[in-house]
Amino acid sequence: MTERIYYTDPACLEFDATVVSASTADGRSIVVLDRTAFYPTSGGQPFDTGSLGEADVTDVIDLEDGSIGHLVSVPIGEGTHVHGRVDGARRFDHMQQHTGQHILSAAFDRLHHARTVGFHLGAVLSTLDLDKVLGAESLAAAEAEANRIVWEDRPVSIRFATPEEAAAMTFRKEPTRSGPLRVIEVEGYDISACGGTHVARAGQVGVVALRSWEKFRGGMRLEFVCGLRALREFRILRDAVAGSLRFLSVPPQDLPAAIEGTQAENKDLRRTIRDLGDRLAAHEAAAMVGRGRHIGSARVIVEVLDGWDQQGLKAMASAAAAQPGVVAALLSSAEPALVVIARAPDVALDAAAVLKALQQTFGGKGGGKPELAQGGGFSGPPDLVRAALAQIIEASLRPAP
Ligand SMILES: [Zn+2]
Repeated sequence: MTERIYYTDPACLEFDATVVSASTADGRSIVVLDRTAFYPTSGGQPFDTGSLGEADVTDVIDLEDGSIGHLVSVPIGEGTHVHGRVDGARRFDHMQQHTGQHILSAAFDRLHHARTVGFHLGAVLSTLDLDKVLGAESLAAAEAEANRIVWEDRPVSIRFATPEEAAAMTFRKEPTRSGPLRVIEVEGYDISACGGTHVARAGQVGVVALRSWEKFRGGMRLEFVCGLRALREFRILRDAVAGSLRFLSVPPQDLPAAIEGTQAENKDLRRTIRDLGDRLAAHEAAAMVGRGRHIGSARVIVEVLDGWDQQGLKAMASAAAAQPGVVAALLSSAEPALVVIARAPDVALDAAAVLKALQQTFGGKGGGKPELAQGGGFSGPPDLVRAALAQIIEASLRPAP
C-alpha cells in the first residue's frame, strides 16, 4: 500500500520518498514508492505528471494491490531515495474541474433532482452525464446556482469516516464502497465520497460554465469548463466572434441572424446564376447551330468549350439538339475532359454508342440514352478527344458503302 499524500494534502506538490519496487512492463519502467503525491487515473480524473529525481513521470496508475505505479522515463532502482515534483499547473487544473463538477452535480440534484450518472475530465473539456433531460432554462439555473456557491467561497473539506459515521451522513450519491470513506464536503452544500483532488475553497474554481449539451442515453451529456479552461474557452469564442464581426457589421448577438441572411442571399444568387447560365447556354447554342457541319441531312457540332461545367454543357447541347437535324457533341477544355452528346429526335444516331466508342480509345466514365449521353475522365488532350469524337459521329451518320 502506498501512502497517498494527496488524500490528506492535495496542495502538496513536492515530496521525498523511497522506491519500494521497480519493474518493467511492455518496455516501460514502473516504480512504486512508499509514499506519493502523484494522483493515479481514477474516478474520471486523469493522472498527474511531473518528475521523480531525473526521471519524468509519464503515467500514474492504481495497481491491484492498493499501491500506485509511476511510469518513468528512466529506470530507478529499488531502495533509491527520490525527490518527487508534481506538475502544479496540471494538478490545479484538474482540481478546478473536479471540484466544479461536485458543485455542478449538486446544483442539478438540488434544483432539478437530476442525478449525475457519469463524469469524465478530459484534456480540454469535461463531460457530465445526467439521468434526465432538462431545458435550456433549467440548465442555466443550475449553472447560475453552481457559480453562486463558487463565489460564496465555501470551504471544501476532506474527512475520513468510518462506515458508522458515514451512515449518519447525507451523501448526494450513496457510496458503494465498504470500509472507511474519504468524504469531500462543500460546506453546507454537497457531501460526496471521493478519492480525487479538490481545491480547498470553492472560490478557487473561479467559474463554472456549460459549453454544450445533447441528449444522451435517456438523459443528457453536458460539456463544461471551469476556472482557467473557461477563460481559454472565452478567448477562443471572443476571437471567433471578433473574426466573424469583421465580415458582418452587426453586434455579436445578431450574428446568427446575419449568417442566416447571408446564406439565404447566397441561395438566391446561386439560383439566379443558374437561370442566367441556362439562358446563356441557349443563346450560345443558337450560334453554334449556325457553325454546324452538314453530314447528310444532319448538322453536326463537335466543339471544345472553355469555362463550362457538366450542367452548362448539357444545357447547351440539349438546347442545340432541340432543333431538327442537330447533333451537338460538346467537350470541356479542362482536363480530364467532360463530354455531352445530344441529338435531335429526327437524327438516327445513338449518342450512348458514340460515347462508348470514344471510351474504347480514351477510357473514362459515363453513359446515357440514344438521344443524350454524358461522360468524362478521358485520358487524352481535349483536342485529340474532339477529333476522335468527330470521326466517330461522322462514321455513324454516313451509311456504310
Ligand atoms: Zn471528487
